[in-house]
Order: sequence, then structure tokens, then C-alpha cells
Amino acid sequence: MKRIPVQNTFLQELLEIWSEVNFCDQIRTEQQFLEQPIWHNSLIRIEDKPIFYRQLFLCGISKITHLMKDSRNFLSLEELINTYKVRVMPLKYFGFISALRHHYNANFPKEPSDTDKPSAFLETFVKSDKGNEVVYKKLLSSKSSAPVKSQTKWKNLIVCDGWIPDWGVAYGLAAHCTKSTKLLNFHYRILHRILPTNVLLTKIGLKQDPNCTFCSNSPESLIHLFWYCMNVETFWENLIERLKEPKLVPRNYPKQITVFLGLRPDTSTFSLQLNFCFLLARHYIWCCKTSNKTPRLQSFTMVLKSQFYIESYQTRENSKKWQPLLPILTTN
Ligand SMILES: [Zn+2]
Repeated sequence: MKRIPVQNTFLQELLEIWSEVNFCDQIRTEQQFLEQPIWHNSLIRIEDKPIFYRQLFLCGISKITHLMKDSRNFLSLEELINTYKVRVMPLKYFGFISALRHHYNANFPKEPSDTDKPSAFLETFVKSDKGNEVVYKKLLSSKSSAPVKSQTKWKNLIVCDGWIPDWGVAYGLAAHCTKSTKLLNFHYRILHRILPTNVLLTKIGLKQDPNCTFCSNSPESLIHLFWYCMNVETFWENLIERLKEPKLVPRNYPKQITVFLGLRPDTSTFSLQLNFCFLLARHYIWCCKTSNKTPRLQSFTMVLKSQFYIESYQTRENSKKWQPLLPILTTN
């Protein structure tokens, strides 16, 4: 990147971002090889330097496929001149083709196969209506790693619920029911187990007492704070009873720990409303913990109400989400 002389900072940054997104360390299919950009490509080198021939670039030659006669053979010098009407020094062209051929043979020594699917990123990016999504997925696949530690810990802690984790679904749960960055961030922190509970704060020496803020009877682990603590248990029970009134949950609604902790979504008729309510309730419990208050249904209803006022100004699809919840917005 540093070899390309670009004065404009904006352009320079754009090029750097693009080269990061478009970079692939290994060429896996023949089609991918043919779709590779030739110029300034770190994988195609002469004297250990990427190349750029302005003359050929101006004729429209930008990908390796532009220099191929068929899937296996490069254009001869004569064919190049006839096709692109360009003058080029024979030695320069032979050296150039030799570098490409060397790279091609090293990667694909066998006969070409026609089953290889095109997988060049540029191609996918240009064809897609949602460019951002394509870039996001590419960056995610090259940078992300599964948080195995937190996943194993959750799995070991929850043994009774017949729960088979689907982490993709669990991580995406919050984004399906809200756009609030505060709630999305909170959901991320709880699933990755990075909320500073008293147990954690004691471990790192910032607190003396690891016991629960609400009951002071047991160590304040995540699972205690959001589920086993008697104060929280009462809060969840009251919430479920309240949700039964407008029939958002059935009479015999099962109290599954994984659903209430956000490790898997509710899938009943009002799943959107319930998953949102439970997410907001978890965040409310956390706010109570940090402000030393006991969670109560009445004050949670106020929180739900204020969230309604915020969201009802945003998009029309929000009204679909809120309509079934309106009956419980009145405080008793
Ligand atoms: Zn407690």
C-alpha cells in the first residue's frame, strides 16, 4: 500500500480499507485466481515487488482473466497487441507473463476443473445490493473467533434445561427485537460474561464482599443475579403474571432459565414482544444492581413505558411490536 503514491488522505484511507477487505492470503479456486486484480497485488510479484503497468491498465486490463486466451493459456504477445491495440516491450511482457504462469502452475498443477465456483470478493461485492453486509461478513470471517471460554462456562452452568446451544441465534437475539445500542451492548456483555458482578469485582480486588447486592446471602454470580436470587425470582414471577393478563403468555408458560437469561429465544406467538421484554428486564435488573435497588415490577413497567416512548418515534414496524404490549404499560 505504501508504494502507491496518493496525496489525498481520504483516498489513501479508502485504499487501505479496501485492501484490508479485499485481501485473501490464499487462492483456493482457479476462478478466484482468474478474477484476481493484477495491479498492486501482493501475490503477483516481479523482483519481489507488486507490479503496475500503466499502459496495460489504460487499455482496460485489470484482472488476470483479461490476459488469458482460454482457461489455461495466456495471450501471446501478438494476440495481446491485436486484442488491445497496445504497444508493449516484448521482454517486459514475457517477464510479466512468466510471473503469472509461475504463480498459476504453483497453485494449480492439475488440469483445470469447471466445477470451481467464482469466489472473488470483488465480484460478489459489485453484484450485491447490500455491499455493507458483504464487507461485514468478510471482515467477520477473517477477524472473529468464537468465545469458547464463555460458551463452555454457560454450558457447564446450565445442565437441566435440555438445552443445546445455538450461539449464532443467541448472539443475534437482541438485534431481532431492538435497535437500542444500550440493550445490544448489554446483551453482548451478559453472553460473553463480562459484566462486573460482585464475584468478578472481588476476584480482581476492587471489592471485599462477593455476595449479592439484592439478598447478601449468596455470591453474586451472573446466574444468581439474573435467576436464582429470591428477589429476582419474585420479579420474574410478577412479570410473567402481568404478561398473562393480556394473554401474551399462556397460563402454563414454562419458566426456562435459558429463555430468561437470553441464551435462547422464546419461540411462542408473541416471541418478539417476550424476547424484548425479557431483554429489557435483564437490563433493568442490572441497573437495579448498580444503583442498589431491589427490582420491582412497578418500576420496570415505567422503564418499559419510557422505552415505548423512545421507540414509537422511530419506525412504523415498531408499532407492530408495541401493539400487543400496550395493555401492560399501565402501572398498577
Ligand atoms: Zn441474591
